[in-house]
Amino acid sequence: MESYKHILLAADFSEHGETVAKRARDLADKYQAKLSIVHVMDNLLITDAAYGPAIPFDLDLTAELMAAAKKRLAKLAEKLNVAEDCQWMEMGSPKLEIIRVAEENKVDLIVVGSHGRHGFALLLGSTANGVLHYATCDVLAVRLHDA
Ligand code: AMP
Repeated sequence: MESYKHILLAADFSEHGETVAKRARDLADKYQAKLSIVHVMDNLLITDAAYGPAIPFDLDLTAELMAAAKKRLAKLAEKLNVAEDCQWMEMGSPKLEIIRVAEENKVDLIVVGSHGRHGFALLLGSTANGVLHYATCDVLAVRLHDA
């Protein structure tokens, strides 16, 4: 089997994120692969479709949230020794953006947690499930337990 050359960690900054991040770093070291990180600011959190498209974006709030998320991303990247040009901060649907970043950067393994912020009610979280279904490269879902 060919070894992985470029691994993408999908980071949602949830409480279990460290376990997922550690696994991604370990794998990158093991395969001597490049490690990138992507965080997606979910636009569902800042717009509410129920109010319709007429509601304007609160640009100040969006910029503030984006700046805070970028800081967290940079902190995590520093911890994992990930270069600045390998940090991706995107906005939109997490699963679609994770897949897009992976495809555009020739990623051959995406590492996600089995669950993130959205709880443990399902067997697999919706982002993890979406990435597993639609990614064209390998996907590792790190099993997280609700403990
Ligand atoms: P979920 O499907 O939301 O329970 O999350 C499962 C995993 O998907 C998380 O452990 C992360 O690895 C990834 N993920 C979820 N949301 C995001 C996000 N907004 N940005 C990057 N990765 C995410």
